[in-house]
This record gives sequence, structure tokens and C-alpha cells, in this order.
Amino acid sequence: MTNGVFQIAIDGPVAAGKGTVSRLIAQRLQFLYVDTGAMYRASALIALRANIPFAEEAKIVEEVKKHTIGMHAPTVEEQDGRLTTVLLDGEDVSWKIRTEQVSQGSSIVAAHKNLRAELVRQQQEIAKTQSVVMEGRDITFRVLPDAQLKIFLTATDTERARRRHIELLEKGQDVTFEQIHTDLLERDKRDMERDVDPLHIVPDAWVIDTSTLSIEQVVDLIVEKVHTVEGS
Ligand code: C5P
Repeated sequence: MTNGVFQIAIDGPVAAGKGTVSRLIAQRLQFLYVDTGAMYRASALIALRANIPFAEEAKIVEEVKKHTIGMHAPTVEEQDGRLTTVLLDGEDVSWKIRTEQVSQGSSIVAAHKNLRAELVRQQQEIAKTQSVVMEGRDITFRVLPDAQLKIFLTATDTERARRRHIELLEKGQDVTFEQIHTDLLERDKRDMERDVDPLHIVPDAWVIDTSTLSIEQVVDLIVEKVHTVEGS
């Protein structure tokens, strides 16, 4: 990049480990971690609170524009397992956007072209002046098409559901593996079949299947690659 920023763009399906891996890479490299999914989740929460059905595109966009969605690395007091702190008009909604209702809602509102245009604009603004690890579904080809490193992080659907299931059980949520697996496939399908910017692998993306890799192995691989690209 001409202005000295380094952009790492990571896309991939639901629960591929993008968040955990991105946060650790950001810590190692002192980059900013941007969880774009959190912005679609916050938009779904905004719609829920305003009693706007998820299908009402224009009303949702209008409502979202009235609010400010912010994000920062968790402070010492905020370290409760979250990967990022998400603020909605200054209110900490980091956990309120992680319910199943908001998860499903986020993938419904994410199919709206005008909402995507607004959030993509905000994401590009963030990545203009600082080095980022940005993860989502359209980062490699829509948000940061000129990123120095593009990655498609994936794993088998059973492995992804298994990881998500363990995570929720640890948080004390009473859910079955089947339920998680079904929800995950439903969200993947919606992300890959929507008309606007469906999730896909770009030709210059580095595809990493994490099914048999540990988090540390994935992080090491990517950090090593960043050093190679930076040095070339
Ligand atoms: O990544 P996460 O599961 O938190 O994202 C929530 C939802 O937001 C996804 O299911 C997807 O539909 C949507 N999303 C998107 N584009 C992004 C990030 C997330 O469409 N860049």
C-alpha cells in the first residue's frame, strides 16, 4: 500500500475460526482486528429493538444510519472471552449480538444491497489509515480488493459445528449438536446464495482448511506469510 498500511483480508463460512485467528494475528502484528460480522449483527439488533422486520430493507438502512457502531480491542476489565468489544451508541453489546436470534437475523439483513453498501463504506473507511486484519464474507473481493494478503479460511461443516457446540456448552447454553449444525448450514446457504456479493473464493486467495490444524498452527502460518510478503 502506498500509505504504509498492510491489509489482511479473511473470508470464510460460519464458525471457520476467523475471529479467533484474526484476533491473535492482530495481537502478534499490532494491527487492528475488525470483525465485520459484528456490524451485520449490530444491524440486526438495531432492527429488533426498533421492531422492524428483517425483510424491511429501506427501514433498516434508515435506522442503522441513525446509530454508531464502534469496535475496540477488549480492555483489561472487558476480558471475558470476547474477541472484540462492540459498542452501539456507546453501549456494550458484545454479547447481546451473539444470540441465535441475532445470528439468524444478521444473515437475513446481510442480504440487503443497501445495508451492505453502507457497512462496506464504513469498513473501507476504517482500513484506510491503519493496518488491519479484517474478516467477514466479502472482504477479499468487495471491501479490500487490493489487500496484500487474501485468505479463505474454512473447515468441514461437522468440524465447524463441533467447535461451535463446545463453545456454547462452555458458555452454559443448552443446545444440541444437531441444532447448531442445522443453523450453521442454513446461514452458510444464505451467505452463498444471496444475490449481492455471495461468499466465494477469489482466484488469488490462499485457502486454508483448518479442520486438522490447531489455532496456533494457523496463526503461525499466516504471520510467517505476512513477513514474507512484507519482505518481498
Ligand atoms: O461472521 P459472523 O457469523 O459474526 O457474521 C454474521 C452474519 O453477517 C453472517 O452470517 C453473514 O450473513 C453476515 N456477514 C456478511 N458479510 C460480512 C460479514 C458477515 O454478510 N463481511
